[in-house]
Amino acid sequence: MGVDFIENELSRLKEAGLYRRLRRVEGDQGPALVLDGREVINFSSNNYLGIANHPALGEAAKAAIDRYGCGTGASRLISGNMTLHEELESKIAEFKGTEAALVFNSGFQANTGVISTLVGEGDAVFSDTLNHASIIDGCRLSRAKAAVYAHLDMNQLEHELKQSQSVRRRLIVTESLFSMDGDEAPLADIVDLAERYGAMLMADEAHATGVYEPNGAGLVAKIGLGDRVLVQMGTLGKALGGFGAYVAGSKALRELLINRCRSFIFTTSLPPAVMAMAIAAIGLVEREPQRRQALRGNSAALRGGLAALGYALGGSRSQILPLIVGDAQQCMKLSQRLLDRGVFAQGIRPPTVPPGTSRLRITLMATHTDEQVDQALEIFKAAKD
Ligand code: PMP
Repeated sequence: MGVDFIENELSRLKEAGLYRRLRRVEGDQGPALVLDGREVINFSSNNYLGIANHPALGEAAKAAIDRYGCGTGASRLISGNMTLHEELESKIAEFKGTEAALVFNSGFQANTGVISTLVGEGDAVFSDTLNHASIIDGCRLSRAKAAVYAHLDMNQLEHELKQSQSVRRRLIVTESLFSMDGDEAPLADIVDLAERYGAMLMADEAHATGVYEPNGAGLVAKIGLGDRVLVQMGTLGKALGGFGAYVAGSKALRELLINRCRSFIFTTSLPPAVMAMAIAAIGLVEREPQRRQALRGNSAALRGGLAALGYALGGSRSQILPLIVGDAQQCMKLSQRLLDRGVFAQGIRPPTVPPGTSRLRITLMATHTDEQVDQALEIFKAAKD
C-alpha cells in the first residue's frame, strides 16, 4: 500500500505539472553556472552579493578548521558553544544595531522555533498570506490561533487584531522583503499597529539582509525601526554567501530562546568554519558598499529591459523580479525555453506560490556583468512566444 501511495503521488504531481527534480551545478556558485552540464547565466540564486565563492570566506573557513577543527560535537547548551559562535553573535548584534543575537542552524529552524517559543495555545499569530513556508510551519507548530491576512493588507491586519482582544499574547510575523514577489512590507505601519494593539512583531529579513543601505543590515535598520521590532530574523546563506541564520533583538529575547526554543536547543551547533565564513561575510558587506550598489544597478537594468519587452513584473523594486506567467505548465515551458537558450530563471509553482500565480523568480547578483544582463535580455526577447 505504501509503495502505491508513493507512485500515485508522483504521477499526480506529474499530471498537474507540479513534479520537481533536482538540477546539478558543477563548480562554484556564480553569475554563470554549469547546470546539468551546460553553461548558463544564473538568475536563480540568492547569492545576491556574489560572495558565496569569495576567497575571504574560504580563507576564514580554512583558518577556523585549522584552529578549531571541523565539528562541534554537541548542541550549544551541552559542549557545542564555541568561541566563534559568540564572536559571530556579537558581530551580528553590532551589525544589526541590536542588544544581542543568536545563531540558528537554518532560517527554517529559526522561524519554526522562534514563533513556537513566542506564542502557543491560547495566543494568536498574525501572518501575511505570502509569508515563507517556514513561517507558516512555525505558526502551525505553535498551536496559536493563526489569522492570515491578505498580502500587505493593513486594514485586514488591524481588523484581525481588533477581533482578538481576549487572547493571552499576540505576534505579528512578516517578511520584510518578500522572497517570491520582491516587494516590501509596510513596516512602519505594522510597527504602529503592533504597538497600538500590544502585539509582538517579528520581521524575517532573509532576503533583505546584506542588500539595503546604509550598511546592509536590512530593511528594519534602513527605516530605523530596530528598537521597535522585537525579533529580526535573517539568514547567513543568501546575500551573506554561507549557511545558517540569526535572530537579533534584546538580551532577554536571546536568553528566552536559549532556554525555550526547541530548534535551538535540540540540535548540533553549526561548525566553526560556517561561523568564520559569516564573520568574514559581514566584514565584506560593511567594507564594500559597492556590492550593494552593483546589485541595485543590475536589478534596475534587467527590470527596465524586461518591462520594455512587455513582461509583467509585479510591484518589485528589489533584486527579486517576479515575472508572472500564471499557469504552472506555461511557466515551466517559458523557463525551459530560456534555459535552452542559456538563461536559468527558475519557474516557481504552487505550493511555493498561490495557484494561478506561477512565475519565473528572477534574482540578480552584484557580480552579473553588463554583458550578461544584455545577453539575457536578448534571450528573454527570443523566448517570448
Ligand atoms: N525565510 C525566508 C523568507 C526564506 O526565503 C527562507 C529560505 N528560502 C527561509 C526563511 C529559510 O532560510 P534557510 O534557507 O536558512 O533555511
